[in-house]
Amino acid sequence: MKAKTGLTRFHNCYILRESQIIKEDLLIREGKIVSPEEVFYVEQVEPDETIDCDNLLIAPGFIDIQINGGWGVDFSYDSESVKEGVNKVAKELLSHGVTSFCPTMVTSEKEKYSKILPKIQKTQGSKDGATVLGVHLEGPFISLAKKGAHSPELIKNPEKGIDSILEVYGTLDNVVIVTIAPELPGALKAIKSLTEMGIKVALGHTEASLAQSEEGVKHGANLITHLFNAMLPFHHRDPGLVGLLASSTEKQVYYGIISDGIHTHPAALRIACRTNPEGLVLVSDAVAAQGLPNGTFRIGPQTVSVENGWAYVAGTKTLCGSTMALDQCIKTFKKATDCSLEYSLEAASLHPAKALGIDDSKGKLNFGYDADFVFLHSKTLKVMSTWIAGECVYKAP
Ligand code: ZN
Repeated sequence: MKAKTGLTRFHNCYILRESQIIKEDLLIREGKIVSPEEVFYVEQVEPDETIDCDNLLIAPGFIDIQINGGWGVDFSYDSESVKEGVNKVAKELLSHGVTSFCPTMVTSEKEKYSKILPKIQKTQGSKDGATVLGVHLEGPFISLAKKGAHSPELIKNPEKGIDSILEVYGTLDNVVIVTIAPELPGALKAIKSLTEMGIKVALGHTEASLAQSEEGVKHGANLITHLFNAMLPFHHRDPGLVGLLASSTEKQVYYGIISDGIHTHPAALRIACRTNPEGLVLVSDAVAAQGLPNGTFRIGPQTVSVENGWAYVAGTKTLCGSTMALDQCIKTFKKATDCSLEYSLEAASLHPAKALGIDDSKGKLNFGYDADFVFLHSKTLKVMSTWIAGECVYKAP
């Protein structure tokens, strides 16, 4: 019997690589994508298995950097069972092609952070669920005037910089993104300290002028939270946070955008992707109602009422996140903007990987990268199967 080489070849497939869809075999070994030249010519080994992909498209696994919950689970609410809740959502996300995500907590009471944050550990994905990259904390260091669905009585200023942040959150061990309004007292100091700790800072829920937003970027912020939502609308004399898309700051700023057909008008999506194509990151901002029919749910301390896919703070017309998973957001985005398929897929894989600084291992199908990918029907974009570290973790029935 021939010795096993651990090599798997995907044959008869189209793969998305370097912004192009090409017909090429994909080879994986030990959870990574490997170069055919390396294995066939240098090592001269044969695959253990060749899988006929029937002309499906292979895209890098989707990465959702803002997701509050789904399937009845709200990451900010039930502190006792949050671990099980994260696991449940992680598992469900596999059928949507999401291979990595950042569980997101909205403005909550101090006790919630101390109970919940230690329980959401970074975990490598598997058959049990998508990779948990770390937590995204949205609030309470945001503007009262742009609170959206956040509880006003819990909103705070980071007056003492990082000390105020630590006072509220307790630990930042499992945190990868913090959303802050840069105009608040102490915010710039806090942004600088967080960035120095390796945590990404997103600007959002803010009344910041463009100058204040640029200060935020100078102090280390590299992201905008759900562009257009919960910030000043574009004004030509002071374009505010939105103006960062075309500002002269040297650094690439990434911006999350919710393309669920509700939060952002198709024309606004087109303005964003034409102004700053590199920075566009599709996020679901999904709430507990994701994957479930109409009903009443939670987002942190608030009650959410969902009618026909629109999620509102109960009794108001304030939107509080989407009910749509990222695979659906990609389709909505592509249709609304007429952007290429390649671009639309990279906006949910490569761009979020770059925003988080993990694009040396995720977000691409290049050699040496993690074998996290999704098989899609090339016309309908239906998720046919999902793979993490070279293992098939979901197969469409
Ligand atoms: Zn928000």
